[in-house]
Amino acid sequence: MHYEDVLALRKAWGDKPCDHPEFTDEYLFGSRTGDYVCTQCGKSFQHVPMNRYVKK
Ligand SMILES: [Zn+2]
Repeated sequence: MHYEDVLALRKAWGDKPCDHPEFTDEYLFGSRTGDYVCTQCGKSFQHVPMNRYVKK
């Protein structure tokens, strides 16, 4: 997910609780940042459970 979309997602989600059901790669300027983002709330993580990781 591109970083701009991550920011938009975070803004849209607000501070509601999220159980982070699914993560994907975070991209900035076309490159992976090495972080993962929750596809529901947009929060960034350095390490995620691989059974929740989806390539998008
Ligand atoms: Zn989340």
